[in-house]
Amino acid sequence: MAEWDGSPLSGSLLSGSEVGGGPRMTGHHGAGPCHPTKAEKMTTRAHPVDHELVQAAAQVARTRCRGDNHTMAAAGRARDGRMVTAVNAYHFTGGPCAELVLIGTAAAQGVYELDTIVAVGDRDRGVVPPCGRCRQVLLDYFPAVEVIVGEADRIRAVPVTDLLPESYVWADHQLDEEAG
Ligand SMILES: [Zn+2]
Repeated sequence: MAEWDGSPLSGSLLSGSEVGGGPRMTGHHGAGPCHPTKAEKMTTRAHPVDHELVQAAAQVARTRCRGDNHTMAAAGRARDGRMVTAVNAYHFTGGPCAELVLIGTAAAQGVYELDTIVAVGDRDRGVVPPCGRCRQVLLDYFPAVEVIVGEADRIRAVPVTDLLPESYVWADHQLDEEAG
């Protein structure tokens, strides 16, 4: 496998729409210009996508994922601007998703607040939304975190709360008087 040489990512993930000023994406049928959709209505604010973060996750997915054990990569943007990356550790007993490994990796680097997170699949699967468990964990760890979701040229950042309507907030149900 060749080392990543720093060139813009190819493949389906970024599709040239944001990297290097290339032509708009072609070849993906049905990908028309951006009409506001119901996704836009759900999220009233327009959230710019942290493309550098997506690229970081994509790079890790392409260069570090291996076999069945490591199939997903995640990247998180710390509040102080740093980026943290991780891969999942699959195991049939419930090995953690990349997002969860990332939380521990971030803590090991002194990062306890994440502003944005994204996961990218191996084999050029592009951005993959978090599973239900990860949505809940992200909400409880980082209530204001934004999650990058969506396909190819339509990726967008949404608050984790948008991914969990009628959320159960663990901290709200604890007996101690510690204010959140
Ligand atoms: Zn998950």
